[in-house]
Amino acid sequence: MACTCSSTAAIADRQALATRRGARSSSRHQQRRVAVRAGLVETLIKPVLQIGERLPLKEGIASFYDESSQLWESMWGDHMHHGYYPKGGAPKSNQQAQIDMIEETLKWAGVTGATKMVDVGCGIGGSSRHISRKFGCESRGITLSPFQAARANELAAAQGLGDKLQFQVADALQQPFGDGEFDLVWSMESGEHMPDKQQFVRELARVCAPGGRIIIVTWCHRVLAPGEAVLKPEEQSLLERICEAYYLPAWCSIADYERLFREQGLTDIKTADWSEEVAPFWGEVIKSAFTAEGISGLLKAGWTTIKGALVMPLMAEGFRMGLVKFVLITGRRPE
Ligand code: SAH
Repeated sequence: MACTCSSTAAIADRQALATRRGARSSSRHQQRRVAVRAGLVETLIKPVLQIGERLPLKEGIASFYDESSQLWESMWGDHMHHGYYPKGGAPKSNQQAQIDMIEETLKWAGVTGATKMVDVGCGIGGSSRHISRKFGCESRGITLSPFQAARANELAAAQGLGDKLQFQVADALQQPFGDGEFDLVWSMESGEHMPDKQQFVRELARVCAPGGRIIIVTWCHRVLAPGEAVLKPEEQSLLERICEAYYLPAWCSIADYERLFREQGLTDIKTADWSEEVAPFWGEVIKSAFTAEGISGLLKAGWTTIKGALVMPLMAEGFRMGLVKFVLITGRRPE
């Protein structure tokens, strides 16, 4: 009996091992296929991305959002960030998924109230309006895009929030605010634009009130494996194309952010990877770009926006390859 048992166990072990090997090799195979496809798309897009003027980073970011924000708002609404689509969740609109992203982020970070927030990289102020309505708080938003700052102020005034919310053009790396002004420091998908992540986190920590909370939701590359010093050449090349189109500097990983948070003496640090929760997003964006309204809007908006649209499939591939990560980090400034 014992013998049969152990031989059954041995067979089961061998079968499990074979299944694991099979799964590993098929997942390696799948990864290779995705990488080849990404390489192909990238090769086709590369020459197109080189057409037109290449502005320095800050001017590029400002003009990218000046040019594309109106189209985005008309197609997607208030929020220029990923939606939250948990696996097995009920079907929902993209707009609801974006609101859920804000709600789930606040819940995850344990934020139950705020009196004054700063919205760093505020877009047209969607997060500020939502959170101000939820908590009754004030908000100051900063963006590099004059178009966005004006539109955010216009929407706040039109929605009766003009006395609580103010938006202006300013650099997140040199914020026009005093030390410790805000009990909620919020950066929703702006960190990927910051050329100096250390200065970015330093400024977030400086404007945060003692006991206040900082939240960054951002794009990162995967965490490097032990002994790995840099990403693989094909991964770097894919990110370069994305950076060219979206005016992004070099990327970092969530492990790098965690180190920067510790360096600033922040406490209660927590991170999360929601790459799976946002997986449907780029497919949805691509779908909306290929409608009659999307195509005519892209043509009207201009070349920078068209380049942004062409790179969308590369973002989707980057996620599929496990290279691009949608991550969150939060921490508190000690009392
Ligand atoms: N948080 C908004 C917009 C995200 S788009 C939303 O979720 O809807 C990225 C935003 O980051 C844009 O508003 C862009 O102007 C801003 N941004 C990028 N680099 C910046 C910098 N150095 N200083 C301030 N804002 C910046």
